[in-house]
Amino acid sequence: MAGEGHMQRITEREMSTNLYILLFVSLVACGGKAATAQTTPVAVERTDVVHKTEAEWKAELSPQEYYVLREKGTERAFTGEFHDSHDKGIYSCAACGLELFESATKFDSGTGWPSYWKPIAKDRVKVGKDNSLGMTRDEVVCARCDGHLGHVFADGPPPTGQRYCINSVSMNFAGKNVPKD
Ligand SMILES: [Zn+2]
Repeated sequence: MAGEGHMQRITEREMSTNLYILLFVSLVACGGKAATAQTTPVAVERTDVVHKTEAEWKAELSPQEYYVLREKGTERAFTGEFHDSHDKGIYSCAACGLELFESATKFDSGTGWPSYWKPIAKDRVKVGKDNSLGMTRDEVVCARCDGHLGHVFADGPPPTGQRYCINSVSMNFAGKNVPKD
């Protein structure tokens, strides 16, 4: 009887030792995981980026597309194809075809350029500093081909408060059939 009790205590002690080891291992594992998460960049990097020479772009794009997409030009306000469009569908990059914005997030900004309060997804556009023309603006480029799209400003409508001010010439539009309600 006494022997059995002794054995029981040893077993319990061994079990609790094993539990401590398990606990220690899981704490180390959790610590490692958290550190990895902190060093992961917030921006989403695409794996399908398009690299072409300026000569290749020039051959593929119209002069106006090349001027805006590759030379960071701006179309004149109220002259673009989409600034006053209310059609339902998807706007994609005129250079590489990546789907960028959808009509559900388009709004009338009154600026003369198509305006959206968010891109389709975070991995569709990249935002960088543009210090040209004596201003500091946030330039918006296509995340796949680096084509210049326009700028983003913080005076947009809810829910994001963002105004993606995009050149029509940088985009192609594909309408979609939306069921009537
Ligand atoms: Zn593109």
